[in-house]
Amino acid sequence: MTIFKEPVGTEVGLAERYQPLIGGRFASATTATFAATNPATGEHLADVTRGSKEDIAEAVAAARAAFPAWSVTPVEERSAMLVQLAAAIDANIDRLALIDSLDIGRHLGETVIDHARAADQYRFFAAAALTHTGWNRSVPNGVAITKREPIGVVGQIIPWNAPAIMAAFKMAPALAAGNTVVLKPDENATLSTLELGAIISDIFPPGVVNIVPGLGEEAGVALTAHPDVKKLAFTGSTEVGRVVARAGADRLVPVSLELGGKSPNIVFPDVTDFDAIVDNVAFAVAHNNGQSCLAGTRLFVHDDIFDTFVPKLVAGFERIVVGAPLDPATVVSCLVSSEQGERVLRYVEIGKGESAELLIGGERAVVPGNEFGYFVKPTIFVTDNSSRIAQEEIFGPVLSVIRWNDHDTMVREANGVRYGLAAGLYTSNIGNAMKTADALEAGSVWINKYFNMIDGSPFGGHKESGIGSEYCAETLNMYTHLKSITLVNDPSPAFFIRTD
Ligand code: NAD
Ligand code: MN
Repeated sequence: MTIFKEPVGTEVGLAERYQPLIGGRFASATTATFAATNPATGEHLADVTRGSKEDIAEAVAAARAAFPAWSVTPVEERSAMLVQLAAAIDANIDRLALIDSLDIGRHLGETVIDHARAADQYRFFAAAALTHTGWNRSVPNGVAITKREPIGVVGQIIPWNAPAIMAAFKMAPALAAGNTVVLKPDENATLSTLELGAIISDIFPPGVVNIVPGLGEEAGVALTAHPDVKKLAFTGSTEVGRVVARAGADRLVPVSLELGGKSPNIVFPDVTDFDAIVDNVAFAVAHNNGQSCLAGTRLFVHDDIFDTFVPKLVAGFERIVVGAPLDPATVVSCLVSSEQGERVLRYVEIGKGESAELLIGGERAVVPGNEFGYFVKPTIFVTDNSSRIAQEEIFGPVLSVIRWNDHDTMVREANGVRYGLAAGLYTSNIGNAMKTADALEAGSVWINKYFNMIDGSPFGGHKESGIGSEYCAETLNMYTHLKSITLVNDPSPAFFIRTD
């Protein structure tokens, strides 16, 4: 199915109006819309239906109607559809990536990788679901059967920073396990998700996947509150995560959360390859313009190497190319919105105000032809761990460098934030590496290579970074519940009623 009968606007052929996918159709009674805007140029891209409570109700009804058949569809068939979806993403990757780059301002190099990783997620869960079985146990004269059953209609809410990956992290395990889905993308990034919906609707039965764009306080709230939604999964800010958890508590449905981060990156004094580490540190903090939950935003550099390492870091940051989203030379592009741009620049002022030492960046870059956009130069402050810029999630390319000396103090400070999503460390000493990895309060620890996510290894937050893990076979447990069935071959007395 294609929803885009008359491509207009840009060469990529966007629809003028994007509608929700509900029950296999792109339609809605809602007339209200919001605009999808190119954050680099300010160009209007399309109008998107501002999904209402009624849209959510219809989507949930469609998902509920699709559940009985989908839940008993043989897992091999569900897997085959997920593999088909992955192949369709691969085949459409240039277009999907271009749409994301237009819609959220990330440069093409990154959005292509996003969709490739998303395709990998669908393939991974297609495979993982095949072996996600219950277990049996023989008992005298019978058997105890443990089944894993899909939960039902799953409500999923995702942010704007990596729409392809976020949609895949949510939908792949949910569908593989036999649930039906109502997904609400973020209002800043709906287009590629709805285009993905068009691909999905060619492959999956109607109602198995429903996608309703809309605002958090409208469509988002309606989804979390709907009595027929039996599980909630959310990625976004810790603040909204709490709101979603409360909504889950009200109805006593399970909630999984992937939230914010303020991840430490730790350089030990024994390191020798400064260039490779500088590159990792820059990537850690400035990929996706710093708009990443797993950004390595606090850098702990050991005293012994501080004065030689930090100048190299600054020199490295100087060479990061800030440019337009579609320019192949670009490494760091523009922030998702002017609100996000103002927020990042406000944090730069906060840093200066709390007398952090600004080494580089801290200002807007002008990219010709893209004057509308907030391009923020990768920024380095030297500060201490208690400063606000070291404690609060900025969601922009701003690094806080912190000096360390004593290992225990450094670990305490590395853990001294409310978050616990990820951590990186650099050393050639295995003892240091493992001792520190064990001590870090983080869901992922990457030794000698930041952001080294491996399909099948869990990704999820400790502390206020979330509840539950995605990206791994274990995730299927979050999308199923267990049922125990015991059977004996013949009725036998319970010895409750005396027979004498
Ligand atoms: P956000 O929490 O404001 O929005 C995320 C989603 O929640 C959006 O779809 C939004 O519409 C929806 N929403 C907002 N209010 C809601 C409500 N009351 N009820 C239901 N839904 C609601 O976050 P954001 O600003 O879009 O994204 C940035 C944040 O997300 C950062 O803090 C970042 O760390 C975090 N994030 C975390 C991960 C992760 O995997 N841990 C990934 C990406 C982003
Ligand atoms: Mn946009």
